[in-house]
Amino acid sequence: MQKDNYSIDAQKRAIRDAAKLRGLPEPTFFEDDERSARGEQIAKRPNFKRLLDFIQANPGKVIVFVHTLDRWSRNVMVTLQSFRILSQTRTSFVSLSEHIDYSTPEGMLQLTILAAFAAYFSDMLAKHTSKGKGERAAQGLYNGDIPFGYRSTGQKQPPEHHPEKFAGLRMIGELRMKGFSADEIADRVNEAGYRTGSKRFGERLFTSDTITAILRNEFYAAYAPDDDRGIVKYKEQRHRGLHPAAFTYEEWQKIRAVTDSMHHAAKRSERGRNIYEFAGYIACIHCGLPLRCQGHAVTKHLYYRDTAKSRRLPCSNGGELTIRADLATQHFGELLRSLRLPDNWRELIRQQMVTEAQAAGTTPESIEREKERLKLKKTRILKQHREGYIDDEELYGEMAAVELALKHLDAPEVNGVKYEEVVEAGEHLPGMTALWDVATVQERNEMVMILLQPGGLYYDLENKIVAAIKPQPAFLPVLRMLSGVVEYDEAKGLLVTERWQDRNRRESGSRQLYQWDRQQRELQHSCLILRCIPKRTVALTAAFAPAI
Ligand SMILES: [Zn+2]
Repeated sequence: MQKDNYSIDAQKRAIRDAAKLRGLPEPTFFEDDERSARGEQIAKRPNFKRLLDFIQANPGKVIVFVHTLDRWSRNVMVTLQSFRILSQTRTSFVSLSEHIDYSTPEGMLQLTILAAFAAYFSDMLAKHTSKGKGERAAQGLYNGDIPFGYRSTGQKQPPEHHPEKFAGLRMIGELRMKGFSADEIADRVNEAGYRTGSKRFGERLFTSDTITAILRNEFYAAYAPDDDRGIVKYKEQRHRGLHPAAFTYEEWQKIRAVTDSMHHAAKRSERGRNIYEFAGYIACIHCGLPLRCQGHAVTKHLYYRDTAKSRRLPCSNGGELTIRADLATQHFGELLRSLRLPDNWRELIRQQMVTEAQAAGTTPESIEREKERLKLKKTRILKQHREGYIDDEELYGEMAAVELALKHLDAPEVNGVKYEEVVEAGEHLPGMTALWDVATVQERNEMVMILLQPGGLYYDLENKIVAAIKPQPAFLPVLRMLSGVVEYDEAKGLLVTERWQDRNRRESGSRQLYQWDRQQRELQHSCLILRCIPKRTVALTAAFAPAI
């Protein structure tokens, strides 16, 4: 992490002084935590986002001040994106430390270079960190969270056996050597009162997944026969650890052999002929977890199963229901067939996208202005050609670029998706629908990947109906036209089937839907926070709205 040379108060003072010097009124400050200035997504910086919204709501009336450029953004993409907004809204940008004034062409060039440098240094920092990790591993020191059954003895010291938990770890290994399944082992260690704990999630019950992960972690295994030290693995390279092993070399061989034999028995039936259309794309509407693909040992039918219960996670539907794969395929096919595109669908989508683009800040005026600018540029290019400053080839190149830019202005863009892409998607869709029933599983799987976002088919396992879909952005405008789906402002991009809603009206299912959609987002958010360094420094930006 970069050191903050200036306290937040010093930054504010410098900005106030600079404002006073220019005869501006008292600034409004927007502050986000230090960690966020690095992020790739503007949405994850609430106050930065607020600032951009503020700028867009007050085009031409705002001057943005930052103390140093890295307070604004350390990510080139974010920088470029945000500066596009600044230029669109004719907003001046001033960075005190770098003496940047974005209203001049020189300033603009400077800014691009600086942004590239900032990203470069950020990458270098990451490289240094990973170098440090490799060095630690070579010395036999473990990187990352201390594995279950061990405890830390200090930064530069190897971990040691945990006085209470180590017995639980031994129990896991011994049960596996006796041939117990991961689920059975989880139940037994849970009953014995052991809990798996991590900084990230706190104390939790063991699940078959945590057990499997433990039995795969070579940290616990002796480095060599008759060696009492464990293994530190870094980038596929094994080093002799300084920490004591939990299992002897022979014990670990046994654990691996038993695990492999169990694994193969389970895998053999799955491999080969079984392909699932919705693998990774189907999720339980009640808990939001992706469903696991599973073949039935006797009936040979393929299923998708909710994993909430086996993972000890809450699901209002019990968390272990299944849906037969062929039924899910049939239901999704029916949903696709309910798509009737009206003759003027292209125009409808264009209008809709124009409205959305305007809501996002691209005004008709700003488009007109840009068009005018491009037309002037055309005149200028022709003049340069006439006067012999550029040759024919350059003329054609420049003119083509301007024409293209003009064409783009007439084609609206929403959330990074262009109108042409949406139209192309729309033109593919009827063909896909017709193909769905006769396609091979492989082909259907490919269609699902094109149409939906991962985990984007939400299924109600109790009522056995499709509850909602989350299409890929390019397909969203067209799939909105499916009959029998609704989209709510609370969960944009999620198309909920009316049929599912009717069934769930008694327990107000749609509200439940936003709830977990929000939960999902919060979950991601809290993971993000936990991954970040807790140091509380602040990325400070300020905006002035001079009184009109
Ligand atoms: Zn569930």
